[in-house]
Amino acid sequence: MKKEPFVTLEKIQEIAKIYPTPFHLYDEKGIRANAKAVKEAFAWNKGFKEFFAVKATPNPYLIQILQEYGCGCDCSSMTELMMAKALGCKKGDIMFSSNATPAAEYVYANEIQGIINLDDITHIDFLEKAIGGIPKTISCRYNPGGLFKISNDIMDNPGDAKYGMTTEQLFEAFRILKAKGAREFGIHAFLASNTVTNDYYPMLAKILFELAVKLEKETGAHIQFINLSGGIGIPYRPDQEPNDIYAIGEGVRKVYEEVLEPAGMGDVAIYTELGRFMMGPYGCLVTKALHEKHTHKEYIGCDACAVNLMRPAMYGAYHHITVAGKEEQVCDHLYDITGSLCENNDKFAIDRYLPKIDLGDYLVIHDTGAHGFAMGYNYNGKLKSSEILLKEDGSFQLIRRAETPKDYFATFDQFPVYQKLLDEVR
Ligand SMILES: *Cc1c(COP(=O)(O)O)cnc(C)c1O
Repeated sequence: MKKEPFVTLEKIQEIAKIYPTPFHLYDEKGIRANAKAVKEAFAWNKGFKEFFAVKATPNPYLIQILQEYGCGCDCSSMTELMMAKALGCKKGDIMFSSNATPAAEYVYANEIQGIINLDDITHIDFLEKAIGGIPKTISCRYNPGGLFKISNDIMDNPGDAKYGMTTEQLFEAFRILKAKGAREFGIHAFLASNTVTNDYYPMLAKILFELAVKLEKETGAHIQFINLSGGIGIPYRPDQEPNDIYAIGEGVRKVYEEVLEPAGMGDVAIYTELGRFMMGPYGCLVTKALHEKHTHKEYIGCDACAVNLMRPAMYGAYHHITVAGKEEQVCDHLYDITGSLCENNDKFAIDRYLPKIDLGDYLVIHDTGAHGFAMGYNYNGKLKSSEILLKEDGSFQLIRRAETPKDYFATFDQFPVYQKLLDEVR
């Protein structure tokens, strides 16, 4: 399938006149249509709630859009909790799925009535000491170990993952938590990442639903929700078939009717913590070709770098690239598309066939709406870009300004050198 950008060259030129490249651009229309589909796909479950994984795209303006579709926030740190609170999240709107958690984060999560998802059995004591008790509602993260195989080419390795409790620990944790006063329980598991298949959630649901039936029977704990977490993927490559969220919702419903309802557990709420699926395809990184270099290979150097999008450098991840305005031209030039870091892995594409690129061309790097801007850092003294929302009516709005040197120097503000740094900025 051909991957088309959601933005035209003309619109990019209009935006770039005001906000220079590089920038991350988000598609309001796409975000809304997808959030609506997720809500509809699970409408059969009375308590269904998607807690958007804030770490994927921590921008309040984007999360506000999701809130219109009933989404809450899944947080993993103090600042993410603060953002959720500032966004008006109330009791029942926040999941706190952290690991190796500092005590102060448990204290704050509890204070703002977030649901705490314990990553380990030893965290029961840690939490109890931190907040002076055990909350009435509590969740535990499960890790069955071994390999999680969905098909021959799609699998992940929970046995090698740092998250969650073993089966025995989970049963023990439920007994301890119940004895300490917990009344409503949740189970959570994240067993495979970026699954481009409709089978992941139903398979995970079967494991968790069967486990939930046993847990209720053996520990007497009331299970209020089962959290399928994140992991539904997106087609980064043009040859991948996108997931069908309606088929996924139906798949989970079927297992729910097979396993939970006959056990008298038809009141269990389904929670999700999707990040990538909610935002990934609805963001792109727009960058300009600044240099061409003809050495042992053909290079195009652009004004974005791994600081703006780390996935290719970090995981060798594929991100599709379109040369804006050259959508219909043949891809007959072989390029490496590079950023400016002093790191040879700072390449958005290696050996990629693209139309002939001219200096000043805008490149659209697809599917950066999740785990894109968010993973940014400041290596080489590079600054993070702006984020811009392309609205449904075609207008655009700055939703995060680009960093300036002053931001980069801000953490020296208590030191004598700060004034000198600021003198240079002026
Ligand atoms: C990262 C994460 C998510 C979101 O994962 P996606 O791959 O973006 O769907 C959800 N829950 C937890 C606990 C996570 O760590």
